Amino acid sequence: MITIKSPREIEVMAAAGRILADTLALLDSHVRPGVTTGDLDLLAEEFILSHVGARPSFKGLYDFPKSLCTSINNEIVHGIPSDNRELHEGDIVSVDCGVALEDLHADSAATFPVGDVGEDVERLLAVTREALDAGIAAALVGNHTGDIGHAVQQVAEQAGYSVVRELVGHGIGTSFHEEPQVPNFGKPGRGYRLTEGMTIAIEPMVNAGRKEIRTLRDKWTVVTADGSLSAHFEHTVLIHPDGPRLLTVIRTATPVE
Ligand code: MG
Ligand code: MG
Repeated sequence: MITIKSPREIEVMAAAGRILADTLALLDSHVRPGVTTGDLDLLAEEFILSHVGARPSFKGLYDFPKSLCTSINNEIVHGIPSDNRELHEGDIVSVDCGVALEDLHADSAATFPVGDVGEDVERLLAVTREALDAGIAAALVGNHTGDIGHAVQQVAEQAGYSVVRELVGHGIGTSFHEEPQVPNFGKPGRGYRLTEGMTIAIEPMVNAGRKEIRTLRDKWTVVTADGSLSAHFEHTVLIHPDGPRLLTVIRTATPVE
């Protein structure tokens, strides 16, 4: 079921989203060689819990054990943080996080370079961010989820990369994953129609190589089948007549209503 959020629900989601944006900014400042993904998870969990009423959405969601998903290099999403998993110079780490406030969720992700990464890697990150921006720009009242997917896919594929098919963006609200699905590929005008008050997570997963994926034996970590690098950026977006509003940013330029 697609849910339309009330102004009050949107305000709460935006408040959750601000905590989430602050969490990712904090993590960004701590990503460096020698830090473990377990360190990042603990830092995020403590920071989120320091806000009254807030909790990490991921912990316990589908029995996931941690507050973050941390996915390194060829890992696409759903990597499990570990004290034994150290970041190394030249790695990239995709950090996905959710914050719940009053049982309303916000969802955001970013891929961070660890120390110096090559120009090729910087380009993958820039293109994936660009693909997310293109998807957000298509999140207009009256457009369809296919317009978002098409916009994301165009940017990624024109740069010579591929987009993952099996994992998609989604509606979000009182449930972390709601309808509709928001694929990172598609045709303009296809899919679900976007209406005022919908909140969706747009989250391109862009592979430097081929689009095929596989899941590791831990049953969580999704990796590229060809071992190529993958990047992931995500925002929670409100569909609004004045244009898309990002709910997972540190400060919104205009008030969210
Ligand atoms: Mg996410
Ligand atoms: Mg998501």
